[in-house]
Amino acid sequence: MSAEYEAVIGIECHVELKTATKMFCGCRNEFGGEPNTKTCPICLGMPGALPVPNAKAIEHVVTAGLAFGAQIPAFSKFDRKNYFYPDMPKNYQISQYDMPLTVGGSVKYWMEDGTRKECRLTRIHLEEDTGKSTHAGSGDGRIAGSAYTLLDFNRAGVPLMECVSEPDLRSADEAVACLESLRRTLLALGVSDVKMEEGSLRCDANVSIRPAGSTELGTKTEIKNMNSFRSVERAISSEIDRQIAVRDSGGRVVQETRGWDEVRGITHSMRSKEEAHDYRYFPDPDLVPLEIAATATQRAHAASDALPWQRFERYTRTFSLGVKQATQLVDNLKLGAYFDRVVSLSDRPQQSSNFVLGDLSRLANETGVAVADSKATPEQLAELIELVESKRINSKIAKDLLTRMWDGAGSPAAIVEREGLAQTIDPSAIEPLVDEVFAGNAKVVSDYKGGKTNVLGFLVGQVMKASRGKANPALVSELVKEKLER
Ligand SMILES: [Zn+2]
Repeated sequence: MSAEYEAVIGIECHVELKTATKMFCGCRNEFGGEPNTKTCPICLGMPGALPVPNAKAIEHVVTAGLAFGAQIPAFSKFDRKNYFYPDMPKNYQISQYDMPLTVGGSVKYWMEDGTRKECRLTRIHLEEDTGKSTHAGSGDGRIAGSAYTLLDFNRAGVPLMECVSEPDLRSADEAVACLESLRRTLLALGVSDVKMEEGSLRCDANVSIRPAGSTELGTKTEIKNMNSFRSVERAISSEIDRQIAVRDSGGRVVQETRGWDEVRGITHSMRSKEEAHDYRYFPDPDLVPLEIAATATQRAHAASDALPWQRFERYTRTFSLGVKQATQLVDNLKLGAYFDRVVSLSDRPQQSSNFVLGDLSRLANETGVAVADSKATPEQLAELIELVESKRINSKIAKDLLTRMWDGAGSPAAIVEREGLAQTIDPSAIEPLVDEVFAGNAKVVSDYKGGKTNVLGFLVGQVMKASRGKANPALVSELVKEKLER
């Protein structure tokens, strides 16, 4: 981006909540299925049908709010947001206007280089999702010669949480890192499956630019239709460039909603941006205001102690793991829990991380079995780490044992005991093997003495082999060198 301008970005995320039923009726809340098979008079907006709020959905929003350090007002209410699209059978959406379920808080996130940042949240409110429209052109024979729209109301009335941020983000990278943190937190809380590809997480971004150093906000545009974090990154970057070009050519950025065109890699104007008064919000007369019990708040709070941000801090600061390692463990909940268990048993975070993210993850990839579901238990791995750290076995034996543990061989300490695999660290036991190898490789030894020092590795390897892999490699190397120099 040009050094003369600074980007100012805020995000809005719509998150479908994981509940058994829809927000205001008893229809199943599931993705997919034949169109219009999960509907009833309430979610189809039939006259006289009355909505009943889903307690679980409200609890999910409160849980999320607390995880982000938001305030939970004791009072909240639902409002009608009036607008007219075919996918809105009632011609209004039940949403929340001036009394959302949560207020304030922030999303803490980290960049790839480990820099910590924070984006304040304005609010999180609860509403119902709309149905799905599919626009089709003429010519497929269904409706001759005209464009038409197919409607599926299976999604209509699914509980939808909207998280709105303050304009605290300054680049496309920051927006993506913040969204990733938001996503992994909601996933850890179990309130949504947050799948962008299935639409259970949908992100919009508000983008404006201003002269660097200015504190005023420029005119913003809202970007929609971004289907992956990669599109979010590309769309925001492209919109920043577009706004700079408009300003540099003496033009004025217009407040509007712009769609992201994935193929062409540009945003395009969709419609002028609505203002809140366009929606004619008013309290929904069918729904009584909500009073959030303090006990519900406490219960939600108790469940939020092992959140991704806290885990990232523990892994990087207390355990001194790298940002990449920590992120991998944070993002894989089951693997992270496995790792935590190994550390609690072994008290060796770095070694645990090396084995879990290294050899064990490799075995998982090769066999298609997740580490946490494998036969190698955290208890066995902690035992193995202890065997290596106390120098009872060398790393070669450790690798072999790991593969055997993976296949269900059980306790590595028992195998070492039974098969006499303990490492030989007694020089008097290794020296005869060195003599034996030297005697059998007289030519190699004389090559070394003639200046071909790169044969050292070969001789060490032969001694290791003679010890059936049990000798301490460092000690072998030392003894071989000593004898060569003699
Ligand atoms: Zn329904």
